[in-house]
Amino acid sequence: MTVTAVVGANWGDEGKGKITDYLAQEADIVVRFQGGDNAGHTVINDYGKFVLHLLPSGVFYPQVVNILGPGVALNIAALLEERDTLIRRGVPEPTIRISNRAQVVLPYHLLLDKYEEARLADQKFGSTQKGIAPFYADKYLKLGVQVADLFAAERLRTRLQSSLATKNVLFEHLYHQPILQVDDIIADLLPAGAQIKPYVCDTVSLLHTALADNKHILLEGQLGALRDPDHGIYPYPTSSSPLAGFGTVGAGLPPYAIQRIVAVVKAYSSCVGAGPFVTELFGPAGDELRQRGGDAGEYGATTGRPRRVGWFDVVATRYGCRIQGATEVALSLLDVLGYLDEIPVCVAYEVDGKITEEFPEPARLERAKPVYERLPGWKCDISGVGAFDKLPKNARAYVLSVEELLGVPIKWISVGPKRAAMIAREV
Ligand code: GDP
Ligand code: MG
Repeated sequence: MTVTAVVGANWGDEGKGKITDYLAQEADIVVRFQGGDNAGHTVINDYGKFVLHLLPSGVFYPQVVNILGPGVALNIAALLEERDTLIRRGVPEPTIRISNRAQVVLPYHLLLDKYEEARLADQKFGSTQKGIAPFYADKYLKLGVQVADLFAAERLRTRLQSSLATKNVLFEHLYHQPILQVDDIIADLLPAGAQIKPYVCDTVSLLHTALADNKHILLEGQLGALRDPDHGIYPYPTSSSPLAGFGTVGAGLPPYAIQRIVAVVKAYSSCVGAGPFVTELFGPAGDELRQRGGDAGEYGATTGRPRRVGWFDVVATRYGCRIQGATEVALSLLDVLGYLDEIPVCVAYEVDGKITEEFPEPARLERAKPVYERLPGWKCDISGVGAFDKLPKNARAYVLSVEELLGVPIKWISVGPKRAAMIAREV
């Protein structure tokens, strides 16, 4: 039995899609356990470049069963579109399983997200407007609709009626927008339900059987540790927990089932949307890192928005690894730093005149200033390097310094966006 979680240690966009696609070579099952199509996981492999939003990054392997677990926010139209895009582009039809307990993103969640961001104006959160916050709010208000409800018409109607009642008050009186009718929502939901029906099952039983059969299971997190509602940069987190610890809840596995927790750590920092970001770079230095970052610049995989970028932040990343419970690190995008003479690394924060190496709570984080050390750059392209000892000396030194500062072994080093651009280390 091996259960491995692949999760972000930063603000998201660390390259989890690439790492999951790589590790899925040996997986039987890949599970998304939280979040919805607000994710953008980039995978570049023999089929081309794909950005996965809802589908687990195991979809490129015929042997992998791809599960959307109970914790996921399921936008049915987005899922079907994503599946169709893969097939249209020559990927063999993936095996998909959807939990009968997963909840469904409904039209009013999308509208609430959009109207609320507009109402907040310059106080807005920078939501991806996929309805995720209103969806999870409804879930915890016990107003959500589970996938299985789509096949129980009377129950579905009652659930929608009780949820829509308050939404329509907001639509009419707060947002001054048209109200919605339950009948119209049902008319769209029933055929959508029929389309996903072949995929729907009790995924928890499926996973437990797989566990008993010693199958390799990957749990694929979305976003990163600093977006966790409890432990992250509140009020700018996402609305579900992206932590490995929640992976067992959102998938339906025993808490002790996870053996390896791969924290994906980006060799520099990027952050989409609003919120404190201590090492943020502005001006030409930021523009250059943004242009050189990612596979084609640092632009949101879901939104296309320019990502905020900054230097590597040890304080935030060590904290991210800690709350993820990282047993190993996959250091990604190391190749991007190959243009620098010196690489600044933030080793501490100064808050109100005091130096700290601990990640402060949000109220103090806003006042934190970075304290940098500078490591020598390697000034060359490392994207073709396949072994740690073949990396330039300064690149090795950078990895070893980061490893020591984080206190977690760096087992994987990603040196390019494609599947093969990966260095495995014996640690
Ligand atoms: P995710 O949300 O964590 O899956 O990450 P994203 O896909 O949103 O963002 C990561 C970006 O970096 C994408 O553009 C990837 O193609 C790219 N990427 C991933 N790993 C590497 C790497 O090692 N080197 C480079 N240059 N790009 C990478
Ligand atoms: Mg992303």
